[in-house]
Amino acid sequence: MAQLEVFRGDITKLQVDAIVNAANTSLLGGGGVDGAIHRAAGKDLLRACEKLGGCPTGSAKATPGFNLPAKWVFHAVGPVWNGGSHNEADLLAGCYHGCMELAREHKVKSIAFPAISTGVYHFPRQQAAEIAVRTVREQLPSSGVERLIFCCFDEPTAQIYEKILDRE
Ligand code: ADP
Repeated sequence: MAQLEVFRGDITKLQVDAIVNAANTSLLGGGGVDGAIHRAAGKDLLRACEKLGGCPTGSAKATPGFNLPAKWVFHAVGPVWNGGSHNEADLLAGCYHGCMELAREHKVKSIAFPAISTGVYHFPRQQAAEIAVRTVREQLPSSGVERLIFCCFDEPTAQIYEKILDRE
């Protein structure tokens, strides 16, 4: 069975086959984890993203990692939280689902996810983590992924994930 881990820190430093970006529909960069990934990967990442022509909310597209230690970046577009009755949960699950499909396609054995949508998009952290864990668990057996990291930038988020993983 694949390992699920919690890591607290900067996703751009992780030596894994793929890191996931919490991108926006333009895929042309932004703040938060998106900005950090673009800075660390270098200008070639923006050029590669420009060729993708954007990405709908709830799905993900792949580029190389360029100057990152990771070979791939999966750019997932999470929903903006708008009260919870605008399909936010399904759209967030779609991001994790899409990334696990990309993992299978690109034969990724190790992957790290940030807490998509929980920054400036304001998705409630606990609910987002439950969706993340549930969705990747469903997809793990068919994905070929052996090591999956939930990369949390702050301690409260890391604690939420640790509790969920301990519970199950
Ligand atoms: P979104 O727009 O999807 O909400 P954000 O980048 O604002 O995306 O935030 C998503 C999550 O990524 C937040 O929990 C934020 O604290 C975290 N984050 C920000 N920078 C990094 C980083 N360098 N590595 C990992 N996580 C990060």
